Amino acid sequence: MIKLILSLLKTDSKVQQYIATSTSNSENLARLHALKKDIGLAQMKDCYHVFVTREIIRSYDGHRTDTYNRLGCIKCGLKDIHTSELDFTSSSIEEEMPSIYQETARSGVRIDVACSLALAMAIYSGILKKHPTITDQEMVRYFKLALQDIRKTPVTRQHQDKRIRRLGLHPGFSAWNEKDIIHN
Ligand SMILES: [Zn+2]
Repeated sequence: MIKLILSLLKTDSKVQQYIATSTSNSENLARLHALKKDIGLAQMKDCYHVFVTREIIRSYDGHRTDTYNRLGCIKCGLKDIHTSELDFTSSSIEEEMPSIYQETARSGVRIDVACSLALAMAIYSGILKKHPTITDQEMVRYFKLALQDIRKTPVTRQHQDKRIRRLGLHPGFSAWNEKDIIHN
């Protein structure tokens, strides 16, 4: 019975139109997704990176503790990751990051700041909106000042939510300070 109803429905012109539209919508979405990926990767390849320390890793092998920094670019989001860290949840962009990082990491600067990459990128895009023609040197200066300002200004929970929205961060974001990003 259901099969019959379905086959009848499929002959209805409105239903046919709906099926055609939703198919082309999902095709467009897939195309848009692929395009976004291509743009993201092209940006990473062309970027003159400005790296911050996004994680500080301490590893203890039973004899001594090694500390090393993981970097991330505040402009394009390129991260210093290793293929072994990638799992099935990684996005296709993340899978291509290690090779892009190897190819392009030398073209860029590293600023001596430890900061959540999401926060750093949000600050960067805020500065860029106000100053679209800013140079990289000016950007670094403005970025440090903006980060300092955020970190030295204590805010209430309510204000924090406002700040999260203003910066376009995900709700519940809490890695405002350097200590919040340190992983062991
Ligand atoms: Zn970059």
